Amino acid sequence: MTAEQFADRHIGPGPDDERRMLDAVGYASIDELMDAAIPEVIRWHGRLDLPPPASEHEALAELRALAARNTVAVSMIGLGYHGTHTPAVIRRNVLENPAWYTAYTPYQPEISQGRLEALLNFQTMVSDLTGLATANASMLDEGTAAAEAMTLARRASKSGSRVYVVDADALPQTIAVIAGRAEPLGIEVRVLDLAVEPLPAEFFGVHLQYPGASGAVRDHAPLVEAAHAVGALVTVAADLLALTLLRPPGEIGADIAAGTTQRFGVPMGFGGPHAGYLAVRAGLERMLPGRLVGVSRDAAGAAAYRLALQTREQHIRREKATSNICTAQVLLAVMAGMYAVYHGPDGLREIAARTHRMAARLAAGLRAGGVEVADVAFFDTVTARVPGRAGQVVAEAQRRGVNLRLVDADRVGVSCDETTTAEQVAVVWAAFGVDGVAGEVPEMLPAALARTSDFLTHPVFRTHRSETAMLRYLRRLADFDYALDRGMIPLGSCTMKLNATAEMEPVSWAEFANIHPLAPAEQTAGYRELIGQLEGWLAEVTGYDAVSVQPNAGSQGELAGLLAIRAWHRSRGDQHRDVCLIPSSAHGTNAASAVMAGMRVVVVGCDADGNVDLVDLDAKIDAHRDTLAAIMVTYPSTHGVYETGIASLCAKVHDAGGQVYVDGANLNALVGFARPGRFGADVSHLNLHKTFCIPHGGGGPGVGPVAVRAHLAPFLPADPAGAPVPGRPAIAAARYGSAGILPIPWAYLRMMGADGLARATGVAVLAANYVAARLREHFPVLYAGNKGLVAHECILDLRPVTKATGVSVDDVAKRLIDYGFHAPTMSFPVAGTLMVEPTESEDLAELDRFCDAMIAIRAEIDKVGSGAWPTGDNPLANAPHTAEMVGGDDWPHPYPRSVGAWPAGVERAGKYWPPVRRVDGGYGDRNLVCSCPSPQAYES
Ligand SMILES: *Cc1c(COP(=O)(O)O)cnc(C)c1O
Repeated sequence: MTAEQFADRHIGPGPDDERRMLDAVGYASIDELMDAAIPEVIRWHGRLDLPPPASEHEALAELRALAARNTVAVSMIGLGYHGTHTPAVIRRNVLENPAWYTAYTPYQPEISQGRLEALLNFQTMVSDLTGLATANASMLDEGTAAAEAMTLARRASKSGSRVYVVDADALPQTIAVIAGRAEPLGIEVRVLDLAVEPLPAEFFGVHLQYPGASGAVRDHAPLVEAAHAVGALVTVAADLLALTLLRPPGEIGADIAAGTTQRFGVPMGFGGPHAGYLAVRAGLERMLPGRLVGVSRDAAGAAAYRLALQTREQHIRREKATSNICTAQVLLAVMAGMYAVYHGPDGLREIAARTHRMAARLAAGLRAGGVEVADVAFFDTVTARVPGRAGQVVAEAQRRGVNLRLVDADRVGVSCDETTTAEQVAVVWAAFGVDGVAGEVPEMLPAALARTSDFLTHPVFRTHRSETAMLRYLRRLADFDYALDRGMIPLGSCTMKLNATAEMEPVSWAEFANIHPLAPAEQTAGYRELIGQLEGWLAEVTGYDAVSVQPNAGSQGELAGLLAIRAWHRSRGDQHRDVCLIPSSAHGTNAASAVMAGMRVVVVGCDADGNVDLVDLDAKIDAHRDTLAAIMVTYPSTHGVYETGIASLCAKVHDAGGQVYVDGANLNALVGFARPGRFGADVSHLNLHKTFCIPHGGGGPGVGPVAVRAHLAPFLPADPAGAPVPGRPAIAAARYGSAGILPIPWAYLRMMGADGLARATGVAVLAANYVAARLREHFPVLYAGNKGLVAHECILDLRPVTKATGVSVDDVAKRLIDYGFHAPTMSFPVAGTLMVEPTESEDLAELDRFCDAMIAIRAEIDKVGSGAWPTGDNPLANAPHTAEMVGGDDWPHPYPRSVGAWPAGVERAGKYWPPVRRVDGGYGDRNLVCSCPSPQAYES
């Protein structure tokens, strides 16, 4: 192996490290360790059939060649995807900055104040622009946001109706996603042209687009009134840029607003990732799905941010959860929020006004040339009638480098955006065969719908006009946070491994970034080849027959997989099979996804060793034999163990007529050693933002491909922009989901090759067992499998010390911040424990630094236990320590400041200081504030 090998860069421990780690674990080689750890029933002894590994520069050259086969045209297709100028200061300092993109979801608020503030800006932006009280911290895309709005409306509506009305002028892909979500829930979707058709007598909600897909801006107030009269809720899918000029949904009484923030500086990326948004009126905030950032206070009473209403997470609600969204679109939400921070209200209004003027000019020119333009008010989109000539016009524009929307044989849609130039408008005119106009052009926005209310009045949106100010603001927030660029994030189940720079670079190339999802096929050959190869490689890695990358998060892959199972049963006349068995240790999204797929969840217990209880499994299968649809298990288990019973579990469920879903979030423990598609499973989702190196982005983006065996392949998600296919619901708004970040896993697989991937798995398992071996005598390791070995993660049981000393899992997590670490996963899957997943990317020095910190913390716990330190006032209870706290004049604590600030082994100069003390979550939930508080609120 030469030093050129990427795998040597990706994998932290070198050969000497490996030998020392193997010694500690008690094995002579990684092969021997893996032979012992992985049950022979699932072990695969082949070698992955992947191309030989490319070096970084070779892979980048191949990606350049693929990118060159995409054509960046001027996109005037619209339909929810628009050209936008990403301010360079945001591109380089957010999208391309590991301090932002390698951060984890802000569950530990003390080390996440920067991204929490950025998300609060996003929420404030959405809430101000929509005129609604509360917005969440992002949805996966506009289609899924609209679908969540539908189910929210159903929960909140007093109407007993099953009917959801969707205006025919909604985005076609939104209608497809809504229809796909509605069917398993027994909701009847009625698409009506509400410009001419009346509302039905009874319905629980209505979805309106504003402006419509055709571009038409209509006054929806009468529809809102009519809907409210029958107890229905109204969702308005609104374009945020248009809302700088138009009366917002909240001011006409809409209950919910949903949409995308893509055109706020986020590249189209062939469909994603972008941040969807969801906002609700006062009174509905506690029903809002997804993550919500709120303001609370820390132990010193200072204002501090944290995720609000955490109890609504699927982890706790499980089968009572109403949404499965977990990973969202944080990085993109940060970008969109920063776009608003940088431009401010006046800048946004100007961008919107300019966009509108271009569209108005375009329309006037068409009219002057005798082309019929729909006689409606519009913002940025014009629909022109050219009977029988639409295809010809679109082709002519395309020949001139401009993509237009072919509505039907007679109509062409043209959307303007921030990037539209006068020259491009002239090209469109030429494509229509008209000369255009000179001189003044009337506004086409209806005066009656003009926005009169202020927005973005908070100082944050008014004080970062210069690039210097913006740069420093981004730097300041990034410095508040702990991401992988500072140190290890040993989060069990989350696989926080290296996100290599070479993997990231292509994401911002124009040939990947600036492609509309509906661009003509001949302009996207490079993308489609990349996606085809990636799907093929993922099929090889997992042993499945077919893969779809459409789902844009793990949760969405789960739903896609379960819907495929459902459709398969139905295709065989087994409509009645609707029971989904889920082990009690499962990730919360599993149960939530099953409910969304119209299944009934039946929980299977775990035995004393943490394995699926096969006796209980038999009992549950017996009780539901005729209605069994599926079992959903995680492998290795969420306890981080290679369960030996997996093969017999698969056989039992198959014998009873059910299908086996293996949650592939833990694939990092299997790649190259076992393939779920060959050891008995029928379907899995993978988390490309875990095993395959897409960075977590502070809580998104992600990609959750669904992988199936051949019999389920006919039920994979269909193209949301195509004709509906029964049994193949669209899962995301774009055909290839978050296509824009697929170069990352492509590059990872391309550079690792078969041997590199297997070695990564081996080292990940070795690292987890090394940590378990070093920490076992200080904290019991809760579960183990074959020969006392864990898989790629281990659970440290703190319950005995908590019982003996009162020191909680929270105290340990927060004290780790003082030691310079992000806490492991807390209280999942077992309350009162920490789950550690080191991954293959951390070298031995960092693993040892972590183990040393945990051992030192154990000694601190003993001092509390022995009474040397009082229970309520010790370095654990007071953690984390801020610079302000230990540098202040007041020090009433019974231990030296240095113990608070510089615990054993902490480097003085490079110390990470959290900006706030421990955050009081409950206080913030009781006093819910989910938009930027006034500056006075920070005075403590
Ligand atoms: C992360 C995870 C999921 C959910 O994935 P998201 O991308 O966050 O939706 C599901 N199951 C398990 C076991 C996981 O670890």
